Amino acid sequence: TRHFAMTGMLTARLMSRISPRWAMRQTFPLARIALGMESNAMTATAPASSAHCASATLDTSMITPEHSIFASPVLVSRVSRPPLICNVTSVHMSLYHNRTIGVLALQGGWRAHADVLGRLGVNVHHVRCPSDMGGLDGLVLPGGESTAISAALGRARLWGPIQQAIQEGGVPVLGTCAGAILLAGELGGATCTLDRNAYGSQTASFTHPLYVEDVGDVEGVFIRAPRIRSEGEGRVLAVGREGEPVLVREGNMFLCTFHPELVTSSVHKLFLDACMD
Ligand code: GLN
Repeated sequence: TRHFAMTGMLTARLMSRISPRWAMRQTFPLARIALGMESNAMTATAPASSAHCASATLDTSMITPEHSIFASPVLVSRVSRPPLICNVTSVHMSLYHNRTIGVLALQGGWRAHADVLGRLGVNVHHVRCPSDMGGLDGLVLPGGESTAISAALGRARLWGPIQQAIQEGGVPVLGTCAGAILLAGELGGATCTLDRNAYGSQTASFTHPLYVEDVGDVEGVFIRAPRIRSEGEGRVLAVGREGEPVLVREGNMFLCTFHPELVTSSVHKLFLDACMD
């Protein structure tokens, strides 16, 4: 029984550079490819089928993308007749690999959102001008300063395109903190009402454990957060320390008064599930 096991993208790339032919000739009954990539430390295991894999070879040159979790080694049978091709791509594919999500990147904490989405395997587009709005499956409005973001949206001529995408296009949008304020205003037109800075000043910022419906436990990070007074026609997915809504879904809009992007990817997954339709 011969195993061909590789740990890490670097090892794989190195092997294929040193001796691609040798790498291709290796046979293994159990294809176990551990991809210890920096960004997600994902481990993927190809289905073990001795009948199929007894003669499989691993084409390491097929492991390609640099910054993604979509490593696509291809198992190619050399001995079975007829030749058997088992492409294990689907084993490694991120659920969200074919989604393009815009992150409004004018002001505030957009980078943390982009990082979380990138780690989830999403195509992330930084939105800074109207042409960046094309082909988006979803949009994130980050936290920051809602007044500053509003002004910047006007300067960038993005107000109209974003309003249209949300209100007419039905594009799913996740608005965190300042982003939620914008969704509850004219930009999103949500019926949910909230008050800015209602928990107090910056120094009154706090964390509070939350239970988010369909997600589970999440540490709620509230930074000079707005307080939702009424969910309007929205559905409350999480409540805060005084039972007030802190995450509300209203149609295609997710209004979130805390900052999941700082502590977890689970709320983004919930949002991305809405971007899959
Ligand atoms: N207080 C900010 C505002 O009113 C929001 C703070 C935040 O996004 N963390 O826009």
